[in-house]
Amino acid sequence: MAKSKILLIYTGGTIGMMQDVKTGSLKPFDFKSLTNQVPELKKFDVELSSISFEKPIDSSNMHKDVWVKLANIIKEKYNKFDGFVILHGSDTMSFTASALSFMLENLSKPVILTGSQLPIGIIRTDGKENLITAIEIAAAKHKGKSIVQEVCIYFEYKLYRGNRTFKYNSEHFDAFKSPNYPFLAEAGVEIQYNERALLKQNKKALKVHAELDNSILVLKLFPGLNEKITSSLINTKGIKAIIIETFGAGNATTQEWFVNELKSAIAKGIVILNVTQCHEGRVVQGMYETSSQLKRIGVVSGHDITYESAVAKLMFLLGQKLPVKKLKDLLEKNLRGEITSS
Ligand code: ASP
Repeated sequence: MAKSKILLIYTGGTIGMMQDVKTGSLKPFDFKSLTNQVPELKKFDVELSSISFEKPIDSSNMHKDVWVKLANIIKEKYNKFDGFVILHGSDTMSFTASALSFMLENLSKPVILTGSQLPIGIIRTDGKENLITAIEIAAAKHKGKSIVQEVCIYFEYKLYRGNRTFKYNSEHFDAFKSPNYPFLAEAGVEIQYNERALLKQNKKALKVHAELDNSILVLKLFPGLNEKITSSLINTKGIKAIIIETFGAGNATTQEWFVNELKSAIAKGIVILNVTQCHEGRVVQGMYETSSQLKRIGVVSGHDITYESAVAKLMFLLGQKLPVKKLKDLLEKNLRGEITSS
């Protein structure tokens, strides 16, 4: 059988750093000598190519234009490769994975994001295992077809659906969680795939959506929200969508001023999405009196979507320039496995 062709795309982040022998400082790794840095890669039965961003970035500088650039690289190289591994800083990896999941419709090849907490040039690095296994997963096929056909994050022995994850630990190697969806694979002596959790193959051609709109406000609620500040934020010019990060099962204050502000925003055509501050569980508008008013005025339920995925989904849907009604319908719909249909 022909070797799988994998494209490695280095965007930046800790993984691509190595220690300068003379100065001891961390500097970006030269990807042309990748197999010298990680000799284990030579043992792989995989044809590996790599491209690196000219100026690698710390993922805190991630931006929608970079997502468009990544989606376009994948579009351009899609037919030449069997899978893609994106090396990315862990800080905003969940946002990028979520964004790509929406931008790459009908994906039938793996797009695996990985990174590390320690640079690849450091002896105790977690980067080598993450990189090697991510490549192995991207190359894995069954009966000639990729086993994984979606955008994932591979980190510390686990493969996750990217748009279900969030970074929860800045120190542990085990940095990601996906509380509302099981992991897709676990790497031990062998890589065990969780077949039932994987997205099913789609026979349609890849469609890349390269338009994103970031006219979004995120309003994280807290007890005793300041009326003046909150009202002024909601009335900021140019906002097309607001994510309200609510308590528990999607609850918020019932104070009149707050409900009225949301109501008048909705009347102006602004979409309001209810996402819970809890990492596990879901929004159920109407379960408590403190969320009934949101349902009544037309706030959209985010169900069990993560905050990261909500941001990406809104940018993607706003980029489609859809009528508000259609946008709201799609927000509540499961598009790429990002929400569990109730
Ligand atoms: N600040 C780094 C980044 O996200 C951290 C990491 O790479 O894990 O780019």
